[in-house]
Amino acid sequence: MTGGKEPPAVAITGLNKWFGSHHVLRDVDLTVRRSERLVICGPSGSGKSTLIRCINGLEPYQGGRIALAGTRLDGHREAEMARLRTGMVFQSFNLFAHLTVLENCTLAPIHVRRMGRHRAEDLAMDHLTRVRIPEQARKYPGQLSGGQRQRAAIARALCMAPEIMLFDEPTSALDPEMVEEVLGTMVDLAQSGMTMLCVTHEMGFARRVADRVVFMDEGQIIEIAPTDAFFRTPRHERTRAFLGQIL
Ligand code: ADP
Ligand code: MG
Repeated sequence: MTGGKEPPAVAITGLNKWFGSHHVLRDVDLTVRRSERLVICGPSGSGKSTLIRCINGLEPYQGGRIALAGTRLDGHREAEMARLRTGMVFQSFNLFAHLTVLENCTLAPIHVRRMGRHRAEDLAMDHLTRVRIPEQARKYPGQLSGGQRQRAAIARALCMAPEIMLFDEPTSALDPEMVEEVLGTMVDLAQSGMTMLCVTHEMGFARRVADRVVFMDEGQIIEIAPTDAFFRTPRHERTRAFLGQIL
């Protein structure tokens, strides 16, 4: 490293991915600075989830490179490292139904990080308090509302002390009245300085917290711009058409 400059949180260059003969990510270049908040939007099937999953080490890719804080993800071990360093929240709450919220939160810290149960539980309660559901700790996911479940999923991810949080349409499966409480939790997280990559079509959220917005279509990044410029003066016709549909 030169000049003592910190490497970016995520550095993606020339990323290409195919599912069989279907070319789903095409020459994607993307750099995310530490503490930056990025919102990714784009039509269904444009490759947003696949991109997030590549960063998380969940999907292999065939061309290009991804580095997290300067460390390249290449082999199997590196992909595992990526999963430990990134926290992921999906559209459908991936909580274990047979474990309480607290147990969901302490599982990986205890079994992967080898943390003592007491410490893991204290940490989990801190994060459940942070997402404002400490009173739900002893309940099972099935006893929670959708919004509470999604906040539990965020707390669970935070318990692994991720360097970056990845969100894949975290509010799109929620009833409308629960969207705000989850977005509120994400706003709090953004204000705490967490590096965040959020796939979402909640443009109010984007305007409030995103530093930059990315528009993807057909596996490519069509446009990436500071939030204000993105909404005020989208440069590409496809971005304008998309914004016209969802705003
Ligand atoms: P988005 O999240 O933007 O809706 P995805 O990343 O889920 O898009 O999908 C991008 C493209 O890749 C779509 O055409 C989708 O059908 C295809 N795809 C996604 N996952 C798979 C998979 N596991 N196998 C084959 N094709 C897939
Ligand atoms: Mg998706």
